[in-house]
Amino acid sequence: MAEQEEARGLWVFVEQRRGKPNRVAWELMGRGRQLADALQTQLVAVVLGHQVRHIAQEAITYGADLVYLVDAEVLAEYRTEPYARALTELIERHHPEIVLIGATNLGRDLAGSVATTLKTGLTADCTVLDVDVSQRLLLATRPAFNGKQMATILCKTRRPQMATVRPRVFELPKPDPARQGDIVEEAPSFGEEEIKAKLVEFIPATGTRIRLEDADIIVSGGRGMGGPENFRILEELAEVLGGTVGASRAAVDAGWMPRERQVGQTGTTVRPKIYFAVGISGAIQHLAGMQTSDVIVAINRDPNAPIFKVADYGIVGDLFEVVPALTKAFRQIFGNRKPTAAELVGALKAQTGAQDRGAAAGE
Ligand SMILES: Cc1cc2nc3c(=O)[nH]c(=O)nc-3n(C[C@H](O)[C@H](O)[C@H](O)COP(=O)(O)OP(=O)(O)OC[C@H]3O[C@@H](n4cnc5c(N)ncnc54)[C@H](O)[C@@H]3O)c2cc1C
Repeated sequence: MAEQEEARGLWVFVEQRRGKPNRVAWELMGRGRQLADALQTQLVAVVLGHQVRHIAQEAITYGADLVYLVDAEVLAEYRTEPYARALTELIERHHPEIVLIGATNLGRDLAGSVATTLKTGLTADCTVLDVDVSQRLLLATRPAFNGKQMATILCKTRRPQMATVRPRVFELPKPDPARQGDIVEEAPSFGEEEIKAKLVEFIPATGTRIRLEDADIIVSGGRGMGGPENFRILEELAEVLGGTVGASRAAVDAGWMPRERQVGQTGTTVRPKIYFAVGISGAIQHLAGMQTSDVIVAINRDPNAPIFKVADYGIVGDLFEVVPALTKAFRQIFGNRKPTAAELVGALKAQTGAQDRGAAAGE
């Protein structure tokens, strides 16, 4: 089919807000580079916004061969209509084979609108991406049937093949400041007068909690916490470490924590520098959302809990003794200063390494 033969290039939409790129775009550039190389095609970054040329430059350091930059005032703040129109125009002009977008609120909104206009297939919320090189097909895998199955979805006839991908599924690649690439500036065919939705005022979110996908340190609690009031001890530990609190589905289903705090297959996928699993058994659906964390610390009174199989540091003991003891020890070591992940690992080694597993609680 002509549509398939004509289409070339793997595109990554680089989400940005107010000139600040979202790291999921760079995660997608990392995986996108591997897939583009396998398909022997160009990796193209798409940057839409106003005064965002620096992001186009940055995209090259993250692996783009080419960047399409649409820098226009009408794109200054995200609105579905101008962003969807600008991206659709680019796609219609250049015919990419594959378009990847982060599965953020913005990305989900944009991708659905663009795919509908282009009448092409979109696989939303993927957790695995691959390609079938001989057929030039994107293999987009995502949980289906409420997480009971993993489905690999193909878009065989229409182009581009589109997918949104969860943040933190892929590793953040190392930028190479010496990389060379081309930036091609394009202009939208429309102006502000054609856009129906107007931005009246921008009110930034006031929530103090760090979003799970942005956190370097996550302290998650499960059914072992025993009740919502006990999450206070996790909040205290997270506060000392400059982290945030997550939860297993059991804790969320019990109404102890809000749904947006759930880690796992049907919750958020996280990849923090340090993940504390407290009173969490380590069910496969929980592991699916956190096992690529750099360092995993498990606290559980059952020495046979499956979580210990993926943990770098295991503390067998009663969480109601272990957690306050760790908080106290870290507070003594770091005071009011938030430790780096490396410092924290060093302190953990000192806390757990010199003793038998489980004995840390006594300190
Ligand atoms: C389709 C599907 C999707 C799912 N998606 C998710 C998901 O996204 N995320 C998710 O988390 N789960 C998910 N689940 C649920 C998952 O299978 C488990 O049921 C859930 O993760 C269990 O949560 P938990 O580990 O907190 O509870 P439990 O399995 O009950 O474990 C509690 C643990 O706490 C320990 N404990 C108890 N008291 C103490 C104490 N005082 N001190 C120390 N340790 C203690 C126990 O030894 C036990 O290991 C899903 C299930 C299905 C079927």
